[in-house]
Amino acid sequence: MKDAVRQFEHCLQGEGGELDVDRLGALRLEPELHISPQPIAILFGVLGLVLTNASEFLPRQPAGAVVGLALIAMGLIIWLVGARWLQAARWSVVAAVALLVLALQVWLAAPGTLILLALLVAAASAVVSFRAALVLASFATALLLLASVLGVLRSYATPVDVAIALFAVWGITGAAYGLYQPIHRLSEWVRDYYLRAQRAVEEVQARRAEVAQVLTELEHANRQLALANDRMAALRAVAEEVQKSKAAFVAKVSHEFRTPLNMIIGLIDLLMETPEVYGETLPPALFEDLKIVHRNCEHLSGMVNDVLDLSQAEAGRVTLRQERVDLTELVGAAVSVVSSFLERKHLALTLEIPSDLPSIYCDPTRIRQVVLNLISNAARFTERGGITVRAAQRDEWVTVSVADTGPGIAPEDAARIFEPFCQGTRGPWRDRGGSGLGLAISKQFIELHGGRIWLESQPGQGAMFAFDLPISPPLDPLAHPGRWMSEDWKWVERTSQPMLPRAPLKPRVVVCDETGELASALTRYSEQAEIIGTSSLSQAIADIRHCPAHALLLNVGLPDRLWHLAAEARSAVADTLVVACSVSPRLDRARAAGASDYLVRPVTREKLWEAIRGVGRPVRRVLLVDDDADVRQLLSRMLAIMPAENGQRTPLEIAAAADGAEALDALHRDSPDLVLLDVVLPGMDGWQVLAQKQQDAALRDIPVIMVSAQDRAEQPMVCEAIAAMLGGGLSSSQLLRCTLGLSAVLRSPP
Ligand code: ADP
Repeated sequence: MKDAVRQFEHCLQGEGGELDVDRLGALRLEPELHISPQPIAILFGVLGLVLTNASEFLPRQPAGAVVGLALIAMGLIIWLVGARWLQAARWSVVAAVALLVLALQVWLAAPGTLILLALLVAAASAVVSFRAALVLASFATALLLLASVLGVLRSYATPVDVAIALFAVWGITGAAYGLYQPIHRLSEWVRDYYLRAQRAVEEVQARRAEVAQVLTELEHANRQLALANDRMAALRAVAEEVQKSKAAFVAKVSHEFRTPLNMIIGLIDLLMETPEVYGETLPPALFEDLKIVHRNCEHLSGMVNDVLDLSQAEAGRVTLRQERVDLTELVGAAVSVVSSFLERKHLALTLEIPSDLPSIYCDPTRIRQVVLNLISNAARFTERGGITVRAAQRDEWVTVSVADTGPGIAPEDAARIFEPFCQGTRGPWRDRGGSGLGLAISKQFIELHGGRIWLESQPGQGAMFAFDLPISPPLDPLAHPGRWMSEDWKWVERTSQPMLPRAPLKPRVVVCDETGELASALTRYSEQAEIIGTSSLSQAIADIRHCPAHALLLNVGLPDRLWHLAAEARSAVADTLVVACSVSPRLDRARAAGASDYLVRPVTREKLWEAIRGVGRPVRRVLLVDDDADVRQLLSRMLAIMPAENGQRTPLEIAAAADGAEALDALHRDSPDLVLLDVVLPGMDGWQVLAQKQQDAALRDIPVIMVSAQDRAEQPMVCEAIAAMLGGGLSSSQLLRCTLGLSAVLRSPP
């Protein structure tokens, strides 16, 4: 039995400790359940020794000694054969028992010894198999019956002795059957399970092969993916670089366009509205032509502004100034701009805005621009019927739609309508002006707010443009990590290497700046830090409480407010580093430097006159300082027609200077009542001229109005002072490290 168990275990474990299916299939358990020949060989040896030694006490000497020696010899033979041929040894046992029985018959010649035939059957069933025992029992029965019939046994066995012997033979056979039947069933059952296990193992091996193949393919795919990722990163870097260069190029080109365009528009305005400045009235035909020139220049100027807007939005340079906005008011403001146009075209305007609509968190200027663009498009392209503006709340979103009864948009145009410069391929609107940029800009603005804009249109049945905006700002995913945590969790140190690459975590800096200039200037560094712009200290504090920040950067404008505001911020957000700085808005900076106002080009007549009146003293002589002769010309024309306080027009005396040195000379020489000073001048810039003038006691009182171009690139933002504060203060080591860090930063190139 032990052999059988060992064989079973052996079958289950192949060479490498794995399941051996072939051996499982070949397993025959039953033969192993019989007694092995070796113990029987020993038994024979012992029995032989006993018989040999006790032979003198036995009858019919020397037959007992011979039998004893024969037994020892047989025991030896069985042992030796069993060492090499197990099956032969088994049959040797049967043969030995047969010889023993025969010897006893001869030796004892007693009638009852026939019963010993049962020993033969018992030996066969115990050592070989039940089937062998059955064959031997049948053979012995046939032999006994034949011998009885032939009368061979008549001399020493009666029929009763034969019957007893037969009974013994078949009794032993029956007992063997009773003993081996359950073992046989068990062996069948085990075999059945072997076979099932065999099939399962085969299946597992097939799956393992498949998994191995999939793993190989996965590894290959991973390698390809890593390669593609590398390429993508390289291409993205190139694309970003191109995007930046494009934005810089567009900014430069639009500046170059805008300056002469503003000049042309300004001069044509003057020509058309105050022709008497030029000495005579304009002929009607010339007036009409000037109107066309003016309209086209306006169109060009609008287009340049649109291109600039779009490129800034695409380059991610637009900073949203978001606040809670009442949508009804916002739509009303946009409608008021086009209402006269709608009236002229006899178009009905329907507003369907529910009174309980919540205010939405958005940049009012940008969203007004979007709504205005949609309504003015609808008005431009609709000839009959009207326009309906709807707003509705849907969960956390507000949907605004502008529907018209115009010609609609063909499906082939609809797919591309939000692309820049797409103006449709069909329909009468190709000749209706426009640049094809309005919808592209609108899409950028809406997507910047986290919303979506779309079009629904059937040609001939009108168009409906709609956009979705979130009512509240989206929650930062890091804002409430607590919502994923459970108190029952226990911290266990990680033992495996993380598979995912670490996501770069950018420091979050909340910028509090009333003018918004600082936040928008910093957005260009969005790769280094996440810049969150807020317009008031309370808004910044609310933002930091909602989602912690690395630092609060507080622009206090003029340096004298620095300590007061920074201390207020520090007490409100004690565990956040507060960095207070003083970046003056341009007007503040100009005033601090001694100027009375700061104008940004294009300067309209009204703005110029208003700024001059703001000086608060009579102005007779004006010094114009600008390196561009055309600008000097335009400004002098505007000054020439400036009405006096009492409605009388007294011509102003106008002097001009093309650079800083000339300006200072003219100031000393002419002592004008006012200076219009351009910021960018060759050599000494406008700020330096102003500073020199302020140092001169004789010139200090002459008022100056600074004039600058619109593009910020001309005036780099300057921070005059910074202070850092942390709730609980800084340790001496932190102080030293801050000082060293600051000096390293401040000594490096800007
Ligand atoms: P623009 O109006 O300056 O050409 P837009 O981007 O605002 O630029 O519009 C792009 C094009 O979309 C328009 O030229 C016109 O063909 C089409 N379009 C926009 N709104 C409407 C509308 N309400 N009905 C029909 N066509 C429209």
